[in-house]
Amino acid sequence: MLKIRIKEAIVKRISEYAEEFGIEVYAVGGYVRDVLLNRKRKDIDFTVVGDSIAFAKFVGEKLKRSAIIFERFRTAMLPYRGYQLEFVGTRKEEYLPNSRKPIVSIGTIEDDLKRRDFTINALAVSLLEEKFGEIIDLFNGLDDLENKILRTPLDPYTTYSDDPLRMMRAARFSAQLEFHLHQSSLDAITQMADRIKIISQERITDEFFKILSANKPSIGLLILKKTGLLKYIFPELDNLSGVEIIEEGGKQYKHKDVFLHSLKVLDNVALVSDKLWLRFAALTHDIGKYKTKRITPNGWTFHGHEEFGAKIMSNIFRRMKFPLDNLEYVQRLIRLHQRPMQLVDEVVTDSAIRRLAFQAGDALEDLFILCKADITTKNPYLEAQYLNNYDIVAQKVLEVQVKDKLREFQSPVRGEEIMKICNLPPSKPVGIIKGKIEDAILDGIIPNEYDAALKYFLENKDKWLSEIGKEEFSKIRY
Ligand code: ATP
Ligand code: MG
Repeated sequence: MLKIRIKEAIVKRISEYAEEFGIEVYAVGGYVRDVLLNRKRKDIDFTVVGDSIAFAKFVGEKLKRSAIIFERFRTAMLPYRGYQLEFVGTRKEEYLPNSRKPIVSIGTIEDDLKRRDFTINALAVSLLEEKFGEIIDLFNGLDDLENKILRTPLDPYTTYSDDPLRMMRAARFSAQLEFHLHQSSLDAITQMADRIKIISQERITDEFFKILSANKPSIGLLILKKTGLLKYIFPELDNLSGVEIIEEGGKQYKHKDVFLHSLKVLDNVALVSDKLWLRFAALTHDIGKYKTKRITPNGWTFHGHEEFGAKIMSNIFRRMKFPLDNLEYVQRLIRLHQRPMQLVDEVVTDSAIRRLAFQAGDALEDLFILCKADITTKNPYLEAQYLNNYDIVAQKVLEVQVKDKLREFQSPVRGEEIMKICNLPPSKPVGIIKGKIEDAILDGIIPNEYDAALKYFLENKDKWLSEIGKEEFSKIRY
């Protein structure tokens, strides 16, 4: 019998409480998988053979915390020192061919493991005192963990048909853990992809975002594409795939596969940023291309794809039930993703640069991340040249911003104060003195702060006033 070493002291305590309460309890699912994979996690799932709610309440009293009870699902949640402890009663689920709702009854630990989605998620660890740490592995989950294989415990047609969301979870775990999805799963999902239609949008979207959060999200998205799931959950993205070749006048015109290109851009962004919405924008920056594709005497063009892409985003957000407060940001990045490249030109005006910075607003830095990720040429010489072009534009933006800052810049000691202290009416000497304070700040003699500027002004004012000379003062009318 293989035993695992459990580091979390809380699991040991749950085991003692189970003994005291007289009930059989197991740690299961993602917790066991992640302990074995050395992945840190804060949610721990416990399966209780018997009354999970009574046991959760008992644990709550012991730990002086109150459990959150979901009577209907026979589950309870207990937050404890940053952990989320979840207690669920063992379930046996039987699906009848014509119904989506299973018949649920209290089952054994074996029944409970059988209804789980993947063998690596169907491992349990006994918390019985004499068997503490012993692994129950009914479906060779340990081997699959070792070999990085994602496989269903039962016949895949049964597992996926019982709950079609598991098809999305297959893509999600493949991406998240970088595991190989077993061929039998790929076949089954491909055959029943359309069954995803019966799953609620919220659950689908949740898994979709978990795919986007992976280190290399393309792994999951390629599975969605390969199995046909993508055309149900994100048809606009699905539409981007494929290459069209047209022959005219003995010449061949070919464009790149926009879907594969988008995945590459997404992976590139994922290497440097965890921002979910930036990743989503990277995936969809060319989403408008399926509608704007035209063949011209010079080859394929996608004129206006940025604007069209931004436009269809609002429908996509609504349909996929995304939080709408991220819509405008995503649209901005899609709309602007070609613009920095158009500003490489030597003669580009300050106002064109200023307009880009203004339109991008606080997404300017993200826009540059996206634009750099968008360079997917395999030619290293071209790649270096394009990257350099972006640096040139970024430099120009910086220069214009510095200029604009200087224009806005004013001495922290204002005219009114200078007038009062020097007993002057509004006049040229006031401006000259203000200019001297500003010069001192720009030259780095004093910091751009009120106290320092006032001190510097008081120390120098007499000298300055005498320098300005009689001529200027003679013009002043008091
Ligand atoms: P995560 O780290 O994302 O929370 P997890 O493995 O804990 O991953 P959960 O969705 O929290 O995944 O589910 C906990 C456990 O419940 C899973 O490990 C799996 O055993 C089981 N499970 C969850 N959803 C399903 C499902 N749709 N079908 C079958 N088993 C499921
Ligand atoms: Mg979980």
